[in-house]
Amino acid sequence: MKVKIDRDGCIGCGLCTEICPDVFEIAEDGLASVAHEPARTDAAKVHEAAESCPVEVIEVEE
Ligand code: SF4
Repeated sequence: MKVKIDRDGCIGCGLCTEICPDVFEIAEDGLASVAHEPARTDAAKVHEAAESCPVEVIEVEE
């Protein structure tokens, strides 16, 4: 599983980091970034974060 964030569209709401803090973090510029590549056990949370992102900038590849 791979996860990408289109940071140009991120509004820094922090929702993804709340849902899945093992994978997402808010970087110094205030926008989300991928802190750790997701483990298999993170899959459900990563999908939930992607579906919850209000601007739909989280892309998940299986
Ligand atoms: S949920 Fe979406 S808009 Fe909010 S911080 Fe994460 S990537 Fe950015």
